[in-house]
Amino acid sequence: MKIAPSDSSAQAASGRLTDPSGRSFEYLRLSLTDVCNFRCTYCLPNGYRKAAGRTPDLSPDEIVRAVTAFARLGLWKVRLTGGEPTLRAEFTEIARRVAAVPGIRRVAMTTNGYRLADHAAEWRAAGVSAINVSIDSLDPARFAAITGHDRLDEVLRGVEAARAAGFDPIKLNAVLMRGVNDDELEAIIAFVRDHDLSLRFIEVMRTNDNAPFFQAHHLPGQTVIDALSRAGWTRVARAPGAGPAVEFAHSDARGRIGIIAPYAQDFCATCNRLRLSAEGKLHLCLFGDGGLDLRPLLQDDAQIDELVERIVALTARKAPSHRLHDGNSGATPHLASIGG
Ligand code: SAM
Ligand code: SF4
Repeated sequence: MKIAPSDSSAQAASGRLTDPSGRSFEYLRLSLTDVCNFRCTYCLPNGYRKAAGRTPDLSPDEIVRAVTAFARLGLWKVRLTGGEPTLRAEFTEIARRVAAVPGIRRVAMTTNGYRLADHAAEWRAAGVSAINVSIDSLDPARFAAITGHDRLDEVLRGVEAARAAGFDPIKLNAVLMRGVNDDELEAIIAFVRDHDLSLRFIEVMRTNDNAPFFQAHHLPGQTVIDALSRAGWTRVARAPGAGPAVEFAHSDARGRIGIIAPYAQDFCATCNRLRLSAEGKLHLCLFGDGGLDLRPLLQDDAQIDELVERIVALTARKAPSHRLHDGNSGATPHLASIGG
């Protein structure tokens, strides 16, 4: 689809980024690196391997220019993700600089939690206020089997350190897998009942690298919804700017439970996010055909106006929906490559 330059300029000037389906974008998922030290069975089962021809991760200056441009277009929330974002030596500096970009009101991060116990206070002081920690099992041996790291206790200590440091909200991400952790559903729901945090069950998603795993272990999010309904949990209204999770609460529970189900109908209707890979490629969809290179426009502060117009023009190409129901999961090899 072509967009006339005057349309791009008008939208750039309006400080609001929308697409032809009428969705507006408030949220940028920013991947800091595709490197990860874990080997989650659904993501990097053989561990991280550098992809052929991969260019270096964006520098802190390039990142700040990108975030400045997105913020001019009204995006106010940035999530630092990866790979494992905390493997970046400049993680704290990047967080501090992103939080200081005019217009950015919330910086969040998603982590496997392995450095969280020691660094939560430092990252909170740098301006990260919201955190998602991935914990797919509350059983130490199973956690080790899924991630390749016997570190459940350490990661749970990290969650407590995040609480002590004042992160709010704190969310746990658990990928739901048939035959792997679905027998823990009740135990995980009980854990959330007793803890003041949100947990998101994420349907395992098919990527280019994990087709057999997906076939063997995909479980519809409806399984969780049925278990929650049986236990008396009820659906909560969606907050403005909220993510794709359908959320549930219970009067006797301290925490909340959400379900992210990309295979559910109408999942794409409320999409409010764009993704920037660690190489500087704009991804309009997690399940799209690849990234659109912004890096040439991240080299100098004087390029910001041009960068803003380019983002508007590229966002106009966003498709109304993914094509998962046609068996097409796009070009993403694994979610570590673009930040999940
Ligand atoms: N390394 C960090 C972590 O694991 O939290 C951040 C990056 S990871 C790609 C972001 C989220 O995507 C994690 O919660 C992870 O469990 C989830 N994820 C990765 N691959 C997935 C897949 N194939 N299906 C569903 N969720 C996936
Ligand atoms: Fe690493 Fe996160 Fe992928 Fe696990 S899900 S392998 S922690 S990037």
